Amino acid sequence: MSIKDNILFFDERLKNTPCRLVAVSKTHAPDKIMEAYEAGHRLFGENKVQELIEKYPVLPHDISWHLIGHLQTNKVKYIAEFIDTIQSVDSLKLLQEINKRAEMHNRTLPINCMLQISIADEETKYGMDYEEAVAFLQSEEYRAMKYIRITGVMGIATNTDDQDKLRGEFRYLRDCFQKLKETFFFANQDFSELSMGMTSDWELALEEGSTLLRVGSGIFGTRTYQK
Ligand SMILES: *Cc1c(COP(=O)(O)O)cnc(C)c1O
Repeated sequence: MSIKDNILFFDERLKNTPCRLVAVSKTHAPDKIMEAYEAGHRLFGENKVQELIEKYPVLPHDISWHLIGHLQTNKVKYIAEFIDTIQSVDSLKLLQEINKRAEMHNRTLPINCMLQISIADEETKYGMDYEEAVAFLQSEEYRAMKYIRITGVMGIATNTDDQDKLRGEFRYLRDCFQKLKETFFFANQDFSELSMGMTSDWELALEEGSTLLRVGSGIFGTRTYQK
């Protein structure tokens, strides 16, 4: 199937659901992204700042860009002007820098941020656990931030075909989302996104309540290098 066909497939599958597709375009050239754009798609994800800042200027500016990979504090400045959502926030220090840079750019909209929660059992380098997310949202530092808003949580499941295991991880993330929503965002519509599901497990993630599927190879084909 062509990139266009893949986009139309997801459009059809996700219509009448609260779920949206983040087309993960990492490693793919701007002309491939344009194929998805011309099929009507506007929401794209990249995992590296360097790659994103090369693509951003040469692509239409009505694209919403989500950063989905680990973000180093010293690189926030390169994307703060235009990024729609940073899905991979995993420390207060990082969020403080995002808030500061958003203020400096005098953006019309705050930068949307999502808390990355570790849900896979292998000890991954990034992401916080539920208790850390709670402490984070209780902190004075977070409460003082005016130029960001927290829109939900993101998780990367274990790389396995064990459906029960994947389902368990997605349910755990959904539970975290619901508890955080009740505790910190009651009656606040901003906190509404549950980002989970990739090419190999998006159907399961959708069944478990995902609102943002992050699909790369399932749209653009296999990548020449992984990451
Ligand atoms: C690359 C990547 C994806 C997409 O992976 P595919 O298996 O190609 O769909 C999703 N989420 C994150 C965080 C990624 O880095």
